[in-house]
Amino acid sequence: MRKKLFAAAALVILAALAQADPQAALTRLADGFDFPVGTPNADGYRISRGFTPHGHLGEDWVGQRGSGTDFRDPVYAIGNGVVTLARDFRRSWGNVIVIRHAFMELGQVKYADSLYAHLDRILVREGQQVARGQQVGTIGNAHDLYAPHLHFEVHKNLAIGVVHTMFAGDLTNYYVPSDFVNAHRTLPSGNRVTTVAMNNYVMPTFAGIPALPSITPARDSSEKR
Ligand SMILES: [Zn+2]
Repeated sequence: MRKKLFAAAALVILAALAQADPQAALTRLADGFDFPVGTPNADGYRISRGFTPHGHLGEDWVGQRGSGTDFRDPVYAIGNGVVTLARDFRRSWGNVIVIRHAFMELGQVKYADSLYAHLDRILVREGQQVARGQQVGTIGNAHDLYAPHLHFEVHKNLAIGVVHTMFAGDLTNYYVPSDFVNAHRTLPSGNRVTTVAMNNYVMPTFAGIPALPSITPARDSSEKR
């Protein structure tokens, strides 16, 4: 416990020092990845629409109890990381959160971005450190555009952000999200602090974008939803 507290305090100090460099942040290596709904194992949820290369570049997750029953359910960070985007992109995206993860694979540090879209609420801010299983938002409907669901992506290419059109929609740039989670449930060297790039996205250019972050302060998790 003391060790964990020390690690947390060290991270705060390191993060403060790193603020001098807007292109970098420190974060903890992921100790594994879980599903973004029904964490850790997606209990009570299913994929309503899967990943298709050059088509649907993520997975749509919905409650198993039927359409709309998952509205405002919690959405969780799939792993330790730092929030790189948390804002309302309007149009087809709605509220979006992107989290940058560093993780060990075959003895090397690798990186991935997880993206959570159409959210009803955003509970984190850009630059914030998040932990695996921490609630970051709630399932939404992209400002009444769709039936409620979570659109979930995992990016290999860290330049994508929310601009799909700049990069080939294939497995060189994207992971199949649930395959990524299933292949990385438990990872070595978890919680060690490492550096990740920040502010490297090409941002959309349509009018009014990027919208100012629409952040809802985190509420007591015991609150009824
Ligand atoms: Zn989708």
